[in-house]
Amino acid sequence: MGLTVKNVIEWMNNFSAKIEQNKQFLSDLDTAIGDGDHGFNMSRGMTAVSQKLSTEPKTITDAFKQIAMTLISTVGGASGPLYGTAFLEMAKKSSTSSDIGDLLAAALTGIKKRGGAEPGDKTMVDVWTALVPEVKTNKLTQEKIASAVEATKDLVAKKGRASYLGERSKGHVDPGSQSSGYLFEALLETEGI
Ligand code: ADP
Ligand code: MG
Ligand code: MG
Repeated sequence: MGLTVKNVIEWMNNFSAKIEQNKQFLSDLDTAIGDGDHGFNMSRGMTAVSQKLSTEPKTITDAFKQIAMTLISTVGGASGPLYGTAFLEMAKKSSTSSDIGDLLAAALTGIKKRGGAEPGDKTMVDVWTALVPEVKTNKLTQEKIASAVEATKDLVAKKGRASYLGERSKGHVDPGSQSSGYLFEALLETEGI
């Protein structure tokens, strides 16, 4: 069994709820090594996504396209186009696969291409790289998500605003990695995926 429109909507509403609950925390993480807006950016975007999905798209491809377009037009910053690209790649991949592992792998390739970050650069790419294979093999756990997010703390940022701080970016969790952690937690908690 593959992904259904119902699964996607539940996943996104779940993600949106986590972003809402943690928006101040996400922005605080971003205040330490960026410009303090990550939680507010994501909150604006995911509120719009939940609203958009309430009109019930017909196919998962349509659903992912709508998510992508909404994020690109509302989130802004570095994370808007990156999350937007992720969902756009999932939309593309969903015409030939409804396996969530395949879709997330395509999304990660898109994020890397779009932002030019590699694992170790202290960006959301680190969390995605650690967790996509776990989804693929059905081994994703809450603990693995938490440790993937935490592992960004000791890295020196090479991409994005945090890279302006150089060595001083060490000792802080990357905000986009934390929000990506919520995306994977929301997935883990979505029934039937
Ligand atoms: P901005 O930095 O423009 O204010 P946000 O604060 O919303 O945007 O998002 C910052 C997050 O975006 C970072 O924590 C990081 O995870 C992610 N990010 C920034 N640049 C890149 C990149 N080139 N590749 C992948 N992720 C990136
Ligand atoms: Mg920011
Ligand atoms: Mg910003």
